[in-house]
Amino acid sequence: MNYNKKTVRDVDVGGKRILLRCDFNVPLDKATGAITSDKRITAALPTIQYLLENGAAVIACSHMGKPKGERKMELSLAPVAKRLGELLGREVMFAADTVGPDAKAKAEALKPGEVLLLENTRFEPGETKNDPELAKELASMAELYVSDAFGSVHRAHASTVGVAEFLPAVSGFLVARELEVMGKALDDPKRPFVAVLGGAKVSDKINVIGNLLTKADTVIIGGGMAYTFIKAQGGSIGTSLLEEDKQALALETLAAAQEKGVKLLLPVDTLAAKGFSADAQPVAMDVAAIPEDMMGLDIGPKTVELFCGALKGAGTVVWNGPMGVFEFDAFAGGTRAMARAIAESGAVSIVGGGDSAAAVEQMGYADRITHISTGGGASLEFLEGRELPGVACLQDR
Ligand code: ADP
Ligand code: MG
Repeated sequence: MNYNKKTVRDVDVGGKRILLRCDFNVPLDKATGAITSDKRITAALPTIQYLLENGAAVIACSHMGKPKGERKMELSLAPVAKRLGELLGREVMFAADTVGPDAKAKAEALKPGEVLLLENTRFEPGETKNDPELAKELASMAELYVSDAFGSVHRAHASTVGVAEFLPAVSGFLVARELEVMGKALDDPKRPFVAVLGGAKVSDKINVIGNLLTKADTVIIGGGMAYTFIKAQGGSIGTSLLEEDKQALALETLAAAQEKGVKLLLPVDTLAAKGFSADAQPVAMDVAAIPEDMMGLDIGPKTVELFCGALKGAGTVVWNGPMGVFEFDAFAGGTRAMARAIAESGAVSIVGGGDSAAAVEQMGYADRITHISTGGGASLEFLEGRELPGVACLQDR
């Protein structure tokens, strides 16, 4: 997959109407409908400001939630238009429809330096079907398409992919940064390249493991999925997470690592408990000798030492998936130790995955990580080496 795509800096935006796909899928308070975090709106500002300063008229669009092609007014983007206006310090017009008469009229009247936000793209049934008619309607309002919603580039929808059939398409700063940092890590990493993989399920991560085995020098496997590997090797894992039907795959993965000369590290000890709860008493023990009535909820102290040791001197670290049930304080230690070791490693560090990103932020290491990917599903597919349709449709540099 080619990650070297044109950005807004590579094209002339002056005097143009620009259709800007943003990720304004912000969390809302269920009771009041108020925006509970405007992080995604703030993140979009640099691209919008750049476009405005360079004489463009910005027609922003985004999805919000899953209205499934219906006008569900609790998922209207109107509150986002208001908040965006406050953050930009200028008026943001709002269209009551996405490609209807209001949108068309307001887009037509839009002048350089002005911003219009269209109503939720998913109010249109054609959005998630990547309907070419809808894409054409969206595109008809603009002369250039800018993709800046990284969290949606793995989905081929009308506003993420379809429009690029009808308009020249480039990336905004958010997408450009994701491509630059993650693309470089996968294609031309500073070595040694260490991949740290965790999280709940082997089935969620097996394609990431497979792809990173072809790229990394060391692959570390922790979190809930590690127990399937331990069991497959003949260990006793008690009631720990197990995907019975993934044991063969686990053994194949171990064999593939050996064949490729990739160092693959598994936990050697664990913090186990009698039950899955925040107040469960953690007991450190051999990861392959967990009693029948106990479950492993975090990596143990010897494993922390082993894994952190493997990070020393790393040139690049990609991390996807927590080492344990970090939501419970007693079992957050392994994840915290890894976050800290990665932050202090001096390596180019990339965190992908919603829960891993949340953990790093909660634990206060975010500012020492090179890049925290904003796209949960998109970054996972990126790390799997899959072609992202919302990236593939952008112009090559
Ligand atoms: P990400 O969102 O970063 O890709 P995942 O969604 O794959 O990560 O996994 C995160 C979840 O894995 C967390 O909710 C965490 O509690 C869970 N988890 C990690 N280790 C264990 C474990 N040993 N047992 C049960 N769940 C675990
Ligand atoms: Mg997750």
